[in-house]
Amino acid sequence: MSDRFLLRIAFAGKPSLLLERDMAEEMLQYAVERLPYEAGGLIAGHRAGDGTQCASRFIALESAFLSETRYTARASLAVRAVFATEQRGECMIATVHSHPQGDGLPSERDIREAFGYTDLLHIIIHFAQGKAQLRFFSYQTSENGFSYLEGHPSFDDFMFDTPL
Ligand SMILES: [Zn+2]
Repeated sequence: MSDRFLLRIAFAGKPSLLLERDMAEEMLQYAVERLPYEAGGLIAGHRAGDGTQCASRFIALESAFLSETRYTARASLAVRAVFATEQRGECMIATVHSHPQGDGLPSERDIREAFGYTDLLHIIIHFAQGKAQLRFFSYQTSENGFSYLEGHPSFDDFMFDTPL
């Protein structure tokens, strides 16, 4: 049976993201299967009247190249995914990619390349001490350059064992 337990990720001063735990595990599983390379995709869903972002599907998108330090979705796949999502009456609400190495914070390039998509949230999957974990960000641009706001899940034990 599917566990439809919902995660609520809170961003200070911004609408929350709602995500099913099953979907979080699906993303982590996908990223683990593609180690040691970076992998990712998009999250489709809808925005509720109060601005809450409700995730409904993880769409894995093959990278344009194999790299342990960089992920860029193949453009043709990304375009197709956006069209298919709009046809279902949904919208894109977040990007997802993994950081096989490092701490799961967005790189300067991550933020720079997301420029112009300020309504999207960004999920980074990272691996530490045998655990795969999701981190949630909203990217911001300012006169000082790039910055990000981290969102926090509604409970503390937000960790998943990796089958490594
Ligand atoms: Zn990155």
